[in-house]
Amino acid sequence: MDKHLMNWKTKIALFVFGLILLSCNNKNNQMTIEEPQDVAKVVERPAFSADSAYAYIEKQVSFGSRVPGTDEHYQCSLWLIETLERLGAKVQVQSTQFTTSDGKILPCYNIIGSFNEEVKERKLLASHWDSRPWADQDTANQDLPILGANDGASGVGVILEIARQIQASATKDQGLDIIFFDVEDYGISNVTDSYCLGSQYWSKHPHRPNYFAYKAILLDMVGAKNAVFAKENNSIIINSALISEMWNTAKQLGYGKYFVNKKGGSILDDHVYVYKYTRIPMIDIIHYDPTTLSGFGDFWHTHADNMDIIDKNTLQAVGETVFATILKD
Ligand SMILES: [Zn+2]
Repeated sequence: MDKHLMNWKTKIALFVFGLILLSCNNKNNQMTIEEPQDVAKVVERPAFSADSAYAYIEKQVSFGSRVPGTDEHYQCSLWLIETLERLGAKVQVQSTQFTTSDGKILPCYNIIGSFNEEVKERKLLASHWDSRPWADQDTANQDLPILGANDGASGVGVILEIARQIQASATKDQGLDIIFFDVEDYGISNVTDSYCLGSQYWSKHPHRPNYFAYKAILLDMVGAKNAVFAKENNSIIINSALISEMWNTAKQLGYGKYFVNKKGGSILDDHVYVYKYTRIPMIDIIHYDPTTLSGFGDFWHTHADNMDIIDKNTLQAVGETVFATILKD
């Protein structure tokens, strides 16, 4: 994902749409969108195993860097397909390819797992599963790919564990789709729309015609020790109600330390394209701490993004919060 660059058209469109939303929702025309109304409601703590989520992350990292076009990437795609099938999902793989600015052909596999397709009202969990081909934020070996334990694998690990819990419990009637987007992290900061290629493709060619999900959550970098999730700005514009619901849920579950009540930056991640082309109101849960210099943490796009920075307490906090939010209608 790209921290800074959001193309101006998208920015303006989101802003205008945000204004319309705000003015519709707000009779007194006040621009406040903070604090949910239903703080008193008790959230039930869902079953979620951080050990299991951790093992799913470790397994992805064991393939090596999942850079599109490499054998490690291909082998990991097979494992993801097999795992989703084992967890009871109907799996579709959307394959395409992209040509990079330097003429390289990149295969792209968006891996989609669906539960209970007969349920009409859909919920969606998504994460990117590829890892970045360069360590451009590192001080050494910048040309080598990163392992992406957090940037990529962590979101996938949390989602797989939620799928496992759904399958093993009385909540297995959920109309849930999972999408693991590919080729998210091949972007170059000064090249417009060069990030999030897999989600851009899926958003223009959804796996089902007119596909829609009324509750949609993207996870990106959700496993680092002492992670901070500020409320990402585009997500607030796209779906402030869901942001409030999630942060409220986190607070009730005792995870206010992670889900801080602060506004984050505007991050151009898969959710922006999903919303732009499908109008699915997807929010992004992303490690972003506005009080630090890099925002994304010191590991971001460096070789330090390996299993050493993954923390089970963070996985537990994110897993329970996302799962509780998904289970609530
Ligand atoms: Zn990244």
